[in-house]
Amino acid sequence: METERLQKYISRCGYVSRRKAEELIVAGKVQVNGRFITELGVKINPAIDRVKIDGQRIEPETLEYYIFNKPKGSITSVGDPQGRATVMDYLKDIKTRVYPVGRLDYNTEGLLLFTNDGALAQALMHPSKGVTKTYEVKLKGRVLDEHLEALSQGIELEDGVTSPAEIVDYGFDSKTNTTTVEITIHEGRNRQVRRMFEHFKYSVYNLKRIAYGGLTLAGLKRGAYRKLQGEELRQLK
Ligand code: URA
Repeated sequence: METERLQKYISRCGYVSRRKAEELIVAGKVQVNGRFITELGVKINPAIDRVKIDGQRIEPETLEYYIFNKPKGSITSVGDPQGRATVMDYLKDIKTRVYPVGRLDYNTEGLLLFTNDGALAQALMHPSKGVTKTYEVKLKGRVLDEHLEALSQGIELEDGVTSPAEIVDYGFDSKTNTTTVEITIHEGRNRQVRRMFEHFKYSVYNLKRIAYGGLTLAGLKRGAYRKLQGEELRQLK
């Protein structure tokens, strides 16, 4: 087994972030094989070395990954001071401490991943990875081709120009006077899809993430989740 920096190992154990782990080391709270370590940069062999924080042995958690179909009307947070429903309310049977990978707005539904693999979560959320996210957007009225064309090239928002999006499909329903657009983006800015359409004065009345990095919601009911394994997991990494 390869060696690993002590602070990385501590964060991988799900104990604290890497930055916080550094603070604990410098504060003299961390022991390796019974010896207090206070300098940063020490490497350990996770297969052999025993690490304690405040005298308590820590060990890596097994890594778990879940795909969840978030319903509207829940916040993507592990707790809410205002007492609103959170996505965690749906995951009560998961005993491991898992966290959402990124977030969906309160009124957005659809695909959300959960894991305790902090390294993978960070990688997936990093803009450089450009993970594909596909949304089904329902709008009042008829969408203009020129606006979809502009979105596919990139438009100027208050936090900068969006990277090119792909319009996967779209269609107008004259009975309900609504347009449904399927759009793939490679970024994850706050309220990005809503803001992209609001830029052209469309009113988004339903937003659903239907795919993320090659995974889809297929077979997963609203509010349901399942574990990711095997090939599905490999393609995310
Ligand atoms: N874009 C949005 O506007 N909202 C989401 O929840 C996700 C993407």
